[in-house]
Formats: sequence, C-alpha cells, structure tokens
Amino acid sequence: MKAITLHGTGDVRVETVPDPAVMDPTDAVVRITTSAICGSDLHQYHGRVPGLPKGVVLGHEFMGVVEEVGPGVARVKRGDRIVAPFSISCGRCDWCRMRLPTQCSTTGRAVFGGRFGATYPGGQAERIRVPFADHMCELVPAAMKDEEAFFLGDILSTGYFCAESAGIRPGDRVAILGAGPVGLFALQSAHLFGPSRIYMVDRVDYRLELAEQMGAIPVNLDKGDPVQQLRALTGGRGPDAVLECVGHEVPFAQAIMAVRPGGTVSSVGVYVEDAIGFPVREAFFKDLTLRMGICNARNYITPLMGLVEAGRLDPTRIITHTMTLGEAPKGYAIFDKKEDRAIKVMLKP
Ligand code: NAD
Ligand code: ZN
Repeated sequence: MKAITLHGTGDVRVETVPDPAVMDPTDAVVRITTSAICGSDLHQYHGRVPGLPKGVVLGHEFMGVVEEVGPGVARVKRGDRIVAPFSISCGRCDWCRMRLPTQCSTTGRAVFGGRFGATYPGGQAERIRVPFADHMCELVPAAMKDEEAFFLGDILSTGYFCAESAGIRPGDRVAILGAGPVGLFALQSAHLFGPSRIYMVDRVDYRLELAEQMGAIPVNLDKGDPVQQLRALTGGRGPDAVLECVGHEVPFAQAIMAVRPGGTVSSVGVYVEDAIGFPVREAFFKDLTLRMGICNARNYITPLMGLVEAGRLDPTRIITHTMTLGEAPKGYAIFDKKEDRAIKVMLKP
C-alpha cells in the first residue's frame, strides 16, 4: 500500500510499504478514508524527536472503515466506520482502568506513527492496524461526515482538554497562545465555559483572522511583548487562564508570566526536550495552578461527538487543504512554513 514515511529532518516520502495484517487476535485492519498532518508530526519532521526509526509510517489522526478483525474482536465488525485515538491503549491495565489510557502499560505509552512507528505504523497511509480494536474504535454515526468526526481522535479532544484543564469560569478572561489547529479548537472549546473575553496570541496573520472570526481578540506577538499586551488588555491584571498550545520554551514561559496571580496555566504543547527553563520564582509567588499533559483522547471521543452533532463544536472550520497521499510532502511543507494560508491539511488516500 501507499504510505507517508519519514527518513530524516524534512525528508518525507511517499512509498510503497507492506499492507497491515491482523497480528494479534484483538486487532482490526482499517481502510483509511481520511487522515491529516498534525503539529506533533512537525516535531518529528524538524528532527526534534530522538530515536525515531528511519522510514517510519507517519500519522496518528485517522478514521476509516474496518476491513478485517481478529478472532478476539467482538464489538467492532467488518464494514463499521470508526475513529480511534492517537495513543494506543489496551483498556485493561491499571492505568487504563484509571482512565489514563495514554499511560497504558501494555503498550508502553505507545502512539501511532511516531517513536513506536516500527511497532505501530501510522495513519498517513491507505490502511492501518488498530490494536485492541474493541476498546480503541468508536463507531461514527452515518450522518456524520469524516471531516466532523475524525478530529475527535486527537486535536479536537486536545483543544477541549486544554480548555477544561484551565478551569475557566463564566466571565473569565482567557488567553490562548498558538492559533494552530490545537489552539483554534481550544478556542472553540473555551467558549463552552462562558468566558467574557478570549485573546488569541500568534504571529501568523491569517490564523489570527480565523481566530477573530471564531470570537477571539487577536494579539500579534510581533507587535510587542505578548505578556505586556495581555496585561494591558486586562487592566494590568493578566488573564485568569492562559492556554499554551505551541510546545516551546518561550510560550511556556510567556504563559506563566502573563497569567494573573492565582490563575491557571493549561499547557498541551508537546515538549520533546527532557527539560526546559521555566520562570519558577514568578510561578511560585503568583500561586498559580499549572496543568499540563498529553490528552487522554479516548475519554473525550464519546462526549465530544455529541457536541459536534449538536453544532456546538465545528471542527470543519479549520480545514484549509485536502490533498492526496501523493501530495503529502507538499502538505508538510506548507503546514510547516505556514504558506498558502495553511491551517489544517487533510489527506485522502
Ligand atoms: P502548529 O504548529 O500549527 O501551531 C502552533 C502555532 O503557534 C503556530 O501558528 C505558531 O505561529 C504559533 N506560535 C509559535 N510561537 C508562539 C508564541 N511564542 N506565542 C504564540 N504563538 C506562537 O501546531 P498544532 O497542530 O496547532 O499543535 C500545537 C501543539 O500541540 C504542538 O506542540 C503539538 O505537538 C501539540 N499537541 C499536543 C497534544 C497533546 O496530547 N497534548 C495533541 C496534539 C497536538
Ligand atoms: Zn496529533
């Protein structure tokens, strides 16, 4: 089958790789109908992730139709349309039973198409093997389009998780750092908690424009220190909550510097480094609350599906490009360089 593979920094290729097959009784093989390129794929594309096997099949955002199931699969059937989360979990270990599927000890905290790519090839391909299919797969209602459903497996759940972890209360002033797909979904989700104002910080004008259309007040970080801008916009106090959706040391520090005393920083940007610098004195004397982490997307797929069906979350708004797998190298390049007004690049095998 055709798949997108990574061979080194910025070296994304379209290659023919072996078709996936049922290896364990609890596996399903899924024919992918839609996948996408994620900001997390960019960390690998930039060579920031050590220990990545060469030629790994990329991608962890996908949905499709079940083609084959192992003898141990009972709930999911051939022909079902499903979406699955980006991290792979068994549903049975102690961590999974504590509703922390990203910590699954059976799979060793695996994700599709990344560091564990040799074991779990990714979803930027024509087909994928989904382990623990009964636990991993969520059925997608026939009336729901791929474009509405498939972000539930990763970035829509992550954006929601970021807003939820920020403890936003009605009337709060909220700032979001990063108007990429995750930040824009954090924005849509933040509205559900009733804030009075949401400020969106980025430097990419067309992303700030979409954020404004989605009800945010744009703050261009190239027009002055974003911490000072956010302070000025909030009467000198700082936002009640700051949502960090970038994944670099600079915005992480900015989030801590900007938040009001006693406020909350909620960070979902992925940190690939072992350690980063961090304004610890400011954090300490401010009595701030810091929440961060990988999203347990499996837990969010079902509840958020209802919000999408009701039109209270509209994932389709961030899609700017739909490409074939053959065009994926170009998709990576424009998403990375923020060319051609790219926000989210979808791939249709
Ligand atoms: P993206 O690269 O498209 O978006 C990042 C945005 O941040 C860009 O628009 C960029 O211009 C902006 N930016 C850069 N520096 C900034 C700064 N100092 N202040 C404000 N904005 C700044 O990526 P994305 O797809 O939106 O993903 C965002 C992050 O979320 C990535 O780190 C990704 O790995 C992470 N992520 C985490 C999870 C999770 O489970 N926690 C899941 C999915 C993605
Ligand atoms: Zn992702």
